[in-house]
Amino acid sequence: MDVVRGSLFIGGEWAGAAGGAEFTSFDPATGEPVGLFAEAGRTDVDQAVEAASEALFAPGWAGITAAARARLLWRVADLIEEHAGELAELETRDQGQPLGIAQGVSVAGAAEHFRYYAGWCTKIEGTVTPVSFPDTLHYTRREPVGVCALITPWNFPLMIASWKIAPALACGNTVVVKPAEQTPLTTLRLVELIERAGVPAGVVNLLTGGPDVGRALVEHPGVDKVSFTGSTAVGREIVRASAGNLKRVTLELGGKAASVVAADADIDSAVEGCLQGALLNSGQVCAAYSRFYVDRRRADEFTEKLARAAAGLRLGPGIDPDTQLGPLVSDEHLAKVDSYVRRGVAEGAHLVTGGSRENGALERGNFYRPTVFGGVHDDMAIAREEIFGPVLPVLAYDDPDELATRVNDSDYGLAAALWTRDLSTAHHLAARVRAGAVFVNMLPIPDSAAPWGGFKASGWGREMGKYALDVYTEVKGVWMHLG
Ligand code: NAP
Repeated sequence: MDVVRGSLFIGGEWAGAAGGAEFTSFDPATGEPVGLFAEAGRTDVDQAVEAASEALFAPGWAGITAAARARLLWRVADLIEEHAGELAELETRDQGQPLGIAQGVSVAGAAEHFRYYAGWCTKIEGTVTPVSFPDTLHYTRREPVGVCALITPWNFPLMIASWKIAPALACGNTVVVKPAEQTPLTTLRLVELIERAGVPAGVVNLLTGGPDVGRALVEHPGVDKVSFTGSTAVGREIVRASAGNLKRVTLELGGKAASVVAADADIDSAVEGCLQGALLNSGQVCAAYSRFYVDRRRADEFTEKLARAAAGLRLGPGIDPDTQLGPLVSDEHLAKVDSYVRRGVAEGAHLVTGGSRENGALERGNFYRPTVFGGVHDDMAIAREEIFGPVLPVLAYDDPDELATRVNDSDYGLAAALWTRDLSTAHHLAARVRAGAVFVNMLPIPDSAAPWGGFKASGWGREMGKYALDVYTEVKGVWMHLG
C-alpha cells in the first residue's frame, strides 16, 4: 500500500501545518510507514478553534433544521458503508486489528453510530415546567454546548471518533477532532467523508499531531467541552488543565474488567467467552476481561483449557484473513506489556503459556504471545493495573460472598463479566459490582443504543444511547410572564 499523505482540515480547507511539521505512522505488523501527516502547532489549534466557533452560529449550521442535520448524519453513515472495505483495510494497516474486527466492529460500529444519532436529531426535546409563579410560562431548551474538542486513543480510532462526532453533531455542536498520533488514518478518511456528505465548513475540523495538540485544545479558552477517551493518567491531567474556563468534560478512561466464572458455569463456553473477551484486538480494549476470578473447584480446569486455547491462536498481520490475533500497536506498548509479564513472574505468579514476543517470520512486527498466568493473588500488579495487552491472570475464589468485595477492590470501574447459569447469582452480582457495564455470559462489546462509561477512575459521564445527549447539550430555562 502507498503511504497516505494527510493534511489538517480547518474551516473547510485541507492544508499542511502552519509550521510545516510532519510525522509518520507505521504498520504495527511490519514496521513499514503507512501515513505521513501534518503535525499541528499552536497556530493551527487557534485557527481550528476559531473556525469551529464561527461555524457554531453560522446560518449554514445553526440555521438548518433538525431534520436537515439528521439527513447529513445519515449520509455520513451511508458513505462509511460505501467505503467499508477501504476503511477496514486502512484501520488494519494503521492499528493492526484483524480485518474481520475492522469490518465487523470498527466500520460497522462507526456507521451504526451515525445512523443512531441521525435518529435523535429530531427528538431532542425540552419540557414545559409547572413553576409556581402565577401567569408564568416556563420551558426548557436543549442547546449545543458549543465548540467540542474530541480527543481519541489508538485502539479503535474510527469507531471512537464516531462515538463522539455523531452525538456532538446531532446536538448541533461544532468540533475539533484530535486522533492519537499512532493511528490518524481512518479519522482523516472519516473527516473526508463528512465533508463529502455536505457538513458545512468549520463544523468538523481535524488536527493531527502529538499530545501537545491535545494539551493546547484542553487549555484553549475558545473550547467549551472536551470529550476524551484514553488513559486515566491523561484524564487526570485534562481535569486540571480544563479548569481555566470550566469546560464541560467527559472522560472515558482505563479499565481492569473482572470476569467471574461461577462453579455452575459451562466451563467450555466460559473459556471461549473469556478468551475472546480478553483478546479482542490483542487485549487493547478498555473493557477487555483482564482478571479472572474462578471458583477454586474449577480453577485448574479453567486455567488449563484457557491456556491451551490461547496457545493455539494464530498470530499474524491483521490483513491476512487467517489471522486470529494481530500485533500490538507499537514497540513501546509491547515493551510495557512485557514489563508487566516480567513483574508477574517476579511476584510469584505461575506463567502457564506465552510470556514473550513472537519472533521468526513475525519479528518485524509487534507480536506478543497470548499469556496466561495461574496462581495469581489480588495484590499482584498483573491483577490490579491496566496492561492493555494479551495477558490473562487467573485468581481462585472460595466463597461467592467474597466476590463483590474483591472485584470492587480496584481503582477502575468500567466493566465486569459473569459466567453462570444461575439467574439469582447473576442479578445479585450485577447489582453489587461497581462498574458502568456488567456482561453476563457474553462479550464486552458496546452498542450505540446502550450507555457506555465508567465508575471511579474509569471516567466521568456516559457516551452512547440517549445519555450522550445530556453531555453534548446545555439546558436553558426560558421564563415568560404572561400577565
Ligand atoms: P492516552 O495516552 O491517554 O492518549 C489518548 C489521546 O490523548 C491521544 O490522542 C493522545 O495524543 C492525547 N493526549 C495525550 N496526552 C494528552 C494531554 N496531556 N492532554 C490532552 N490530550 C492528550 O491513551 P492511549 O494510550 O491512546 O489509549 C489507551 C487508553 O485508552 C487505555 O487506558 C484505555 O483503557 C483507554 N480507553 C478507554 C475507553 C473507554 O471507553 N473507557 C475506550 C478506549 C480506550 P497522542 O496519541 O498524540 O499522544
